Amino acid sequence: MPSGRVHTWINTLSYGALLAGASYALERGWLRVDLAQAALFSAGFWAGTLLLSPDLDLAEGSVRSKRAWGPLGALWVPYGLIFRHRGLSHSWLVGPLTRLLYLALLVGALLSLLSWLLPALGQALLLYLAQLTRAGVLPWVWLLAGYYLSQWLHLIADGIRPDTDFRRWQARPH
Ligand SMILES: [Zn+2]
Repeated sequence: MPSGRVHTWINTLSYGALLAGASYALERGWLRVDLAQAALFSAGFWAGTLLLSPDLDLAEGSVRSKRAWGPLGALWVPYGLIFRHRGLSHSWLVGPLTRLLYLALLVGALLSLLSWLLPALGQALLLYLAQLTRAGVLPWVWLLAGYYLSQWLHLIADGIRPDTDFRRWQARPH
């Protein structure tokens, strides 16, 4: 199983290859992507590579993606305790979603705490979040595409194939 450092390298090289391929396609007019879309895709990709790696299922110990959060890394310990290493957290569709939901819970809890401690700041942040939702779904699609690609590269490097998800579902008692 590759280490966190090797996963980061694999993702970095893949991103470089993708960038080269996309630049080539853009130059020839085969692809149309604007700067905002590319930035969102990249943000999703790097957040997924550095901060939201599937190996956060080891966050009860010391793992690279937990350390990347600095002191906030401790917030991922419950995630590490809930998810068995290379279990559901390492599935192709649901796995990346579990980390997004967990993150949404963390942000929600933090916002509630902030709006209780500093009502004005909490209100401003909520307004900002409402504005983000008004931007429509397209920005989220680009963000998610980058994020999911980073997760899938990790799973491929771990030797986990997409059909594992299907077999996992099939193996469930009905
Ligand atoms: Zn892994």
